Amino acid sequence: MSAQPDAPTFSDPRPEAAAAPPFGAAPRRATRQVRVGGVAVGGDAPVVVQSMTNTDTADVVSTARQIGELWRAGSELVRITVNTPEAAAAVPRIVERLAMQGIEVPIIGDFHYNGHQLLAGEPACAQALAKYRINPGNVGFGKKKDLQFAQLIEFAIRYGKPVRIGANWGSLDQSLAATLMDENARRAVPWDAGRVLREALIRSAVDSAERAVELGLGRDRIVLSAKVSGVQELVAVYRDLSARCDFALHLGLTEAGIGSKGMVASSAALALLMQEGIGDTIRISLTPEPGASRTKEVVVAQELLQTMGLRAFTPMVTACPGCGRTTSEFFQELAGVVQDHVREKMPEWKITHPGAENMTLAVMGCVVNGPGESRHANIGISLPGTGEAPSAPVFIDGEKAVTLRGETIAQDFVALVDEYVHRTYGRGADAG
Ligand code: SF4
Repeated sequence: MSAQPDAPTFSDPRPEAAAAPPFGAAPRRATRQVRVGGVAVGGDAPVVVQSMTNTDTADVVSTARQIGELWRAGSELVRITVNTPEAAAAVPRIVERLAMQGIEVPIIGDFHYNGHQLLAGEPACAQALAKYRINPGNVGFGKKKDLQFAQLIEFAIRYGKPVRIGANWGSLDQSLAATLMDENARRAVPWDAGRVLREALIRSAVDSAERAVELGLGRDRIVLSAKVSGVQELVAVYRDLSARCDFALHLGLTEAGIGSKGMVASSAALALLMQEGIGDTIRISLTPEPGASRTKEVVVAQELLQTMGLRAFTPMVTACPGCGRTTSEFFQELAGVVQDHVREKMPEWKITHPGAENMTLAVMGCVVNGPGESRHANIGISLPGTGEAPSAPVFIDGEKAVTLRGETIAQDFVALVDEYVHRTYGRGADAG
């Protein structure tokens, strides 16, 4: 299966891009739109999902395979580490391998310390990448810092690439931090240390962007980020950052953590900011559980955007949590089966049944909330709770359509979902 949710492009603006913000959300903050390969970031483009590999980039096969997995999961941009000459040499081969598989996802190169040398040594890498990520805190040391930053920007200009200037709490420009600490000491009422460090982070990003503009890089070629690992600090930093500039912003909570902690922390921080209209592209920086797929970060990012009503990727399944009124786990299993089914089918539906991603489904455990919640969904099923008759009414677009019974309720309900998709979203399906 090579089909994948299509990324927003300049030539194919999505209706959702111009849609009004969801109830209670602020309008998207006006930013300059940046083109990253064929994907639009900022302006009126929908918030873009991106991810990052954790393979050794020099390993072409493994890296291309993981990029393919992330792309199939719905990542619209993928970042890779470019840290050695071997990694830089591998980049064009990775991009070529992906193209042979029909995967045309823009690849972003993540550079630290030696990016200027790697881009100089591997012109094909400089050309193959769709964007360069530069951390102003570690482009170089001492006097070399400004020179090496300028060299990176010159490569971006020469090859027509955008850059993300991504400051990070963990690699803050120490000389700038020291200067701001000195300035703070001279204030009549000094700021607390946290505020000074926030200021240093923001200034590092904004001042570097202005320096890039002075060097000749267009403002529509710059994305900014300023990542920290605390939720409240991230919200404070981005509110300030967005008030001070109109560059497109990449959101992410750095070092968010493993498992539910990472998902909760990232979602809390990014949701607060996006509710205020801040953020043009997001990454959920999860530490995968041992052996778990890297694609989890893409799924979480999509689900965050979809639950906030900002984008639609795959039909949403509403399921009750279950309680003492249910004696079996059947309804939980059915909810899982339905969610997996629609997620698996969505890449195909995206092409053959556009709009199916907006469908809502409900799988409920008993009569208490079952019929009501099912009526609110496009298609919902209310399973029998303890002591209820062994039948499961199905509601389609608010009306009771059929009652399922017996051992094949799960298969029958999945078939009804497929039938609904075909009838409602199929191209020309209303004729037959
Ligand atoms: S719908 Fe029924 S089974 Fe589900 S949580 Fe509510 S009362 Fe419990």
